Amino acid sequence: MQIIFRTAPNYFWFFIIWCISKITQYILKQEKTVWEVIWERSLIYFDNDEYNLFINGIFLTTSIGGLWLLALYTFFDFTQKPKFIRKYKVNPNTHEPPDLKGMMKILILAAFNATFITKPTFILIFYVLKWREFPDIQVLPNIQTVLISCFISDHLYDAVVYCVHRTLHHRFFYKSIHKLHHEYKSPIAFAALYSHPVEQVFQNSLPLCAGLFVLRCHIATAWIYMISSMFSSTITHSGYHLPFLNSPQWHDYHHMKFDCNYSTIGLMDRIFGTDKMYRNSVCEKRDELLISFKSTRELYPDKN
Ligand SMILES: [Zn+2]
Ligand SMILES: [Zn+2]
Repeated sequence: MQIIFRTAPNYFWFFIIWCISKITQYILKQEKTVWEVIWERSLIYFDNDEYNLFINGIFLTTSIGGLWLLALYTFFDFTQKPKFIRKYKVNPNTHEPPDLKGMMKILILAAFNATFITKPTFILIFYVLKWREFPDIQVLPNIQTVLISCFISDHLYDAVVYCVHRTLHHRFFYKSIHKLHHEYKSPIAFAALYSHPVEQVFQNSLPLCAGLFVLRCHIATAWIYMISSMFSSTITHSGYHLPFLNSPQWHDYHHMKFDCNYSTIGLMDRIFGTDKMYRNSVCEKRDELLISFKSTRELYPDKN
C-alpha cells in the first residue's frame, strides 16, 4: 500500500479541512465555502494575474502552510520537549539536540537557494505551464479533481525524481553535488532544505511541474500540491514517525544505507529492484501509517 499511497495522509488532512469548510457553510447558511472565499480574496490580492498567483502565491502559501511544520519539528529537536514525542524518534540519540553550526550552514544555503535558484526555476516552470495554458482562474476545480490531480502528480514527480536521484548517486555527480544532502545520515527536518543548487533545480524543483504540465492543473491545485510536497519533504526528513502523518522510514533508510530507496514513494524502486535491502529490514515493517499512539519501535522492537 505504501508504494502507491505514501502521500495519502497529506490529502486526507486536506479533505478533512475541506469537509469542515463545507459543514461550516451549511451551518452558517453561507453562500460560499471558506475555500471559495479565500480564493476570491487571493484573486483580488494578486490582481487576477496568473504570474502573481503562481509565483508569489506559491511562495506565500508554502511559507504559511509549510514552514510552521518545519518550525514545530525544530522545536522538538532543540528543546527535547514534549517528553512523549521522544518515543517517536526513528533513530534515538541522534541530533538530540542538533548542532547549531550545522543548522546555520543549512539556513544560509536554504536562503541562497530560495532567492537565486528556486524562484528563477519556478519562473521557468510558470512559462512552461503558461504555454500549455492554465484553466480559468475564476472557476475553482472541485475536490475530486484536486485530489486525483495531486495523486497522479505525485507519481509523475516520483518517476522523474527516481531517474534524477539515481543519476546524482553516480560517482561522477555524487561527490560534487549530492554528497552535501547526505551529510545527515539520520536526517532532521531542516535537512530537507540542505541541497546543492544543481540538485535544487533538477531534483527538488523542475520535476514538480511534471504532473501540473501533463494534467494542465489549475493554479489552486498547484498551491495544494506544493504545500503537500513541502509537507512530505519536511516529514520524511524529520526523524520522527508521528501518528496520523506520513511515515519517514522510507527516506530515512536512504540516508542511512545510501544506495537504495531513490524514489519518494517507492513504486519505481520496486520496479527496478532497488528496494531489496529495505524489504528485509525492520524499517520496512515500521513503514506504515500509525493509527494509534504506540510508536513503531514499540510495535516492532529492535532485535537484540
Ligand atoms: Zn541520495
Ligand atoms: Zn533526503
